[in-house]
Amino acid sequence: MKTAVIYDDVYLKHDLPSHPENALRLKYFMEPVYELGIPILKPKQVSYELLTAVHEESYVQDVIISCRERAPGFFDPDTYYNSFTCDSALMAAGANEFGVELLLEGKYEAVFCAVRPPGHHAERNRAMGFCIFNNVAISALKALSMGVEKVFIVDFDAHHGNGTQHAFYDEERVFYFSTHQYPFYPGTGSVSENNSHVLNVPMAEGSSDREFLEVYSTLFKRAVEDFSPEIILVSAGYDLHEDDPLTDLKVSDRGVEGIVTEIVDSALSLGVPLLFTLEGGYNLNALRRCSSITFKLLIHS
Ligand SMILES: [Zn+2]
Repeated sequence: MKTAVIYDDVYLKHDLPSHPENALRLKYFMEPVYELGIPILKPKQVSYELLTAVHEESYVQDVIISCRERAPGFFDPDTYYNSFTCDSALMAAGANEFGVELLLEGKYEAVFCAVRPPGHHAERNRAMGFCIFNNVAISALKALSMGVEKVFIVDFDAHHGNGTQHAFYDEERVFYFSTHQYPFYPGTGSVSENNSHVLNVPMAEGSSDREFLEVYSTLFKRAVEDFSPEIILVSAGYDLHEDDPLTDLKVSDRGVEGIVTEIVDSALSLGVPLLFTLEGGYNLNALRRCSSITFKLLIHS
């Protein structure tokens, strides 16, 4: 697949070295991108209109003013900010907007938004779980605004993407598929929340490659084929890895390879573009290996 990465050093400026979601993560993640020679494009800042369609304007203004006047601080007990956080978050959302433009204009077949802060916990009116703006929701809404009628989001982060599910709970043009450790943070993601276009697949603590590959080769594959989207968006959270310090899943490098292979194969068989956005992943070496696995699959498929 013709693949590009969207990245900017601004994503390193949102940082708190003692926190698991720190800038080193993205440095490790980017190493294979440079080694493999994948084209790197600069993001644009997200359009205010799109951002305020996903988030309440009063919340967006609170983020901007907090970073400008009250930094450093915390939006919630997990989610820090410094004076650069707003720039990073606006450019992370902007990468997700720009990535969809590139894909729908046919310039690339796959785009990976290598961004921080992550996004899938961010709710309409609040930051949560290391996330400020909901990057993948920005991508989905951008695709709809460009005339796409069906968007499929697959979220393999170890945590449930509560913000993403809530953003599109009543939007039948967006399918949300998530595997996540359950019960676990943030507490949402049970099967009782499923509807015609939300499919949560809770995974027990200790779930391994076998359980995940069973889900991705059956439930995921069937859901994406039945929905027949025009674009597939991926909340790529590599904290499902067995080496991750924050979670209790047992997915190996091979398991990650298997999951990403199923996603890539689905996009190829439907002939639709693929946008990844980085969510979690807190073991630096595992994150670097997962990056390498993902990009090798993309460029060789
Ligand atoms: Zn996570």
